[in-house]
This record gives sequence, C-alpha cells and structure tokens, in this order.
Amino acid sequence: PVRVRFCPSPTGNPHVGLVRTALFNWAFARHHQGTLVFRIEDTDAARDSEESYNQLLDSMRWLGFDWDEGPEVGGPHAPYRQSQRMDLYKDVAAKLLDAGHAYRCYCSQEELDTRREAARAAGKPSGYDGHCRDLTDEQVSTYVAEGRTPIVRFRMPDETITFTDLVRGELTFTPENVPDYGIVRANGAPLYTLVNPVDDALMEITHVLRGEDLLSSTPRQVALYKALIELGVAKSVPAFGHLPYVMGEGNKKLSKRDPQASLNLYRERGFLPEGLLNYLSLLGWSLSADKDIFTTDELIAAFDIADVNPNPARFDLKKCEAINADHIRLLDVKDFTERCAPWLQAPFAPWSPEDFDETKWQAIAPHAQTRLKVLSEITDNVDFLFLPEPVFDEPSWTKAMKEGSDALLRTAREKLESADWTSPESLKEAVLAAGETHGLKLGKAQAPVRVAVTGRTVGLPLFESLEILGKETTLARIDAALE
Ligand code: GLU
Repeated sequence: PVRVRFCPSPTGNPHVGLVRTALFNWAFARHHQGTLVFRIEDTDAARDSEESYNQLLDSMRWLGFDWDEGPEVGGPHAPYRQSQRMDLYKDVAAKLLDAGHAYRCYCSQEELDTRREAARAAGKPSGYDGHCRDLTDEQVSTYVAEGRTPIVRFRMPDETITFTDLVRGELTFTPENVPDYGIVRANGAPLYTLVNPVDDALMEITHVLRGEDLLSSTPRQVALYKALIELGVAKSVPAFGHLPYVMGEGNKKLSKRDPQASLNLYRERGFLPEGLLNYLSLLGWSLSADKDIFTTDELIAAFDIADVNPNPARFDLKKCEAINADHIRLLDVKDFTERCAPWLQAPFAPWSPEDFDETKWQAIAPHAQTRLKVLSEITDNVDFLFLPEPVFDEPSWTKAMKEGSDALLRTAREKLESADWTSPESLKEAVLAAGETHGLKLGKAQAPVRVAVTGRTVGLPLFESLEILGKETTLARIDAALE
C-alpha cells in the first residue's frame, strides 16, 4: 500500500512551493488509494511557532486537503508532531552508536573550519574529513577531559549510492561527495537529518515526494535507511521523487520571503482553492497538452509522478489569475455569491452594513461572476450599489469628463428619464441616442455616464448596472455630476 507524507516545519507563513508539495503528495495518495500522513517537523524550537502551526493547519483545511494520519485526526503512529517524539529519536541515535553506524565527534567548530579551509586550498573535497571516525579510548578520554561535548555523526559507508528518482531517473553519488554528517547536536537535540528519515521509517512511508532542494540529503538518508533496516527500525528504503524548483521573477528561485510566494496573499485576494491548486499542479506537471483547466478530482484521477517534469517551473501570476478566473466561471451562481461574502463585509466593504441590499446583490452577482479574476475584486465592482454616493476617483473623472461631457450627460439624462427601466437594452438605446446627438460613438458616450454613476471608468456591464441601481438614483447621480 502507498504511504506518503507531507511534513512541513511550522516556520512562518505557508508558501506556494509548500502547497505544491502537499498537493502532489495528496494527489499521489488519493490516486493510489493510499495513505497521506501529515507530520509536523517542529524540532527547531528557535524557528518553529505555535502560530505557524495553527496557520499551517488552517491553510491545509482551506485548500481542501484531507489527511489520513496526523494532527487532529491521529493515527497508529501518533504523535505526529516531532517535538513530542524526542524519546524515539534518542533511542534510535543510541542504537546507531552502539552498532557503529554513528560515532561521537569532538571536533570544535574552529577546528572544522580550519581543516575545511585547508582542504579547499588544496583543491580537495571540503566536507567532514572523518577525523573522529575511529578514535582510541585514550583520545576520547583526552577530549572528555578537555571538556568537549560531542555531536553524533553518521558514518557514511564507503560506497557509491545509487537510487532511482521517480522524477529524475537513476542518480549516483560517490562517497567523496557525501561525507559523514551530524545527526544529534552537542546539546542532545536531534537534527532534521535524523528525525526525518527515522519518522519516515517508523511511519512506513513508501514514497518520499519533496522539493529538489532536498535532493542532496537523499544519499545520506538512503545510507541511514540501510542502517535502520539492519537495526530492525526500518523495513525498506522508500522511493524518492524530487519535484522541480519553482522560479519567480527574473528567473530566480521563488523564495519563502518573496511576497508572491505567500499563500495568505492568494487567500486574501480571493483565489479559489480549486483555482490555485489547478494552477500549482501545472508547476511541473500537466494533465494533457490541451487542457489547462480541471478539477481536483480530474487531477487525482490523472496524476502520475512519472509525468512530473524535472526542469524548473516558472511561476506566472498572470496565468494563475487566468486559471482562477476560469474556476470562478465554473461555480454555480449560488456558490459564487456565497464565496464572495467575506468581501461584502468589513473590513473590505466600504459601505455600512445597513446599506447593503440583498436583492441588488443577487441581481448583479451573475454579471460579476463572468468578469472577476479574483473574488476580492467584487468590492470595487459593486460598491456603487451600496454606497450613498459613488466613490470619487480623481483619475477616472479626468479621463472620462472631457469638454462636451456636460452636454452629453444632459442629453443622456433626458433620454434615460423617458427610457424603459425594465430593460438594459432600452437604457443602452438612450445612451446611444445621446451619443448620436453629440457625434459620439457608444463607448465615448457611456464613459461619462459610467463615471457619474459608479465613480469609475471600468466596471460591470453598464446598462445592467444602471437597471439594478434604479432610475431615481441613476438620474440623481447624473444631476450631481452636472453640478
Ligand atoms: N521539514 C522538511 C521541510 O519542510 C521536510 C523535508 C522533507 O520532505 O523531507 O523542508
């Protein structure tokens, strides 16, 4: 049975790269009717926070992910927070030491630095040089007497490590490129290098799908796994698949700190989770050459890790928005109106709650649904319906109110007054006729009307908007603009 894991560290805001990793693990698990384990890698007390942990869970739920084992749901390998599993790591570290797969290293940072520099200068590999690999009892006593506190280092086998990456194919690492590495700090705190594979082993993970940035730790983990198998801690080495880098602006790796990377940003702007997931799935994968828009169910049905492209993927905000827009169109109207709700309220909505009019909202919503890229755009698009006066936007006025606009507005007002207010067509005819009187095409004629009534040069279809706003208010706003 397939068992995969998503195991972020709760440090700061979740970012889109993390979401893509979660998505591919989730899709892989669901496609294979496997198990998704959600594990929290919070062994770094200095960087992890409870706030980030809560945010992580909230984000996962918002995105619509579910997990079979992990926080809030429990499972046979509980606890799923590494900070609560310290005894297990201590136990495994002791076993590795006993069996000689790990050793105590007494080198001070200074000594390590000096030797590294020397190796570099001599053009030799600059990783750990194995200094403490085989200390005599005497040497150990001397170091202890000197008051040195050792770290624990894993002893890499002196052999080439090969594994078949599910995305990249066969990869080979020679011993000089994978030196012995620390697994427990001098203060006894276990490191990522130990706790991550140990938990993967204990939780019987079969496939490790994660970012390319972790590729260099994989040969170490494969070696550690072999030791764990020998000790009876692990059953087998999992398969590994490393997902491509996500590139941002200027073809640089999208970093956690990039504002464009923050998941919260997308949430606040009103991306639909399904739209965002659809786009993120295209970072390294595709459903088919001619189908960009699909549901998460379609994604799950089609997902194959072997189809993931190892080349870096470029994050394209425009495309992300376009895909989200398509998902907005796919909602049924009722769902759309419900999802807009947060942006129809404070702090987003500038109108007071008692001025909100449900009937008008229901009438305008279908017109908004065909035009928004993100849900937050709804506020500016409908504020003219609920504010006592339209917003005043200076550039819009300058742009639309030219010489002759007053004359046009006067004629338009007249024609609108006698139009049939039950049909947008009739309102359009009125503005069209006003334009003709002044030698203006519809586009030019409707601009001052739009600005007078809605305050903006762009917005939802004008004549539907006027009809919903109503005759009285529309005419009063034209009058006000003419004052
Ligand atoms: N906690 C690690 C991280 O967030 C997990 C890496 C892994 O998937 O192995 O980078």
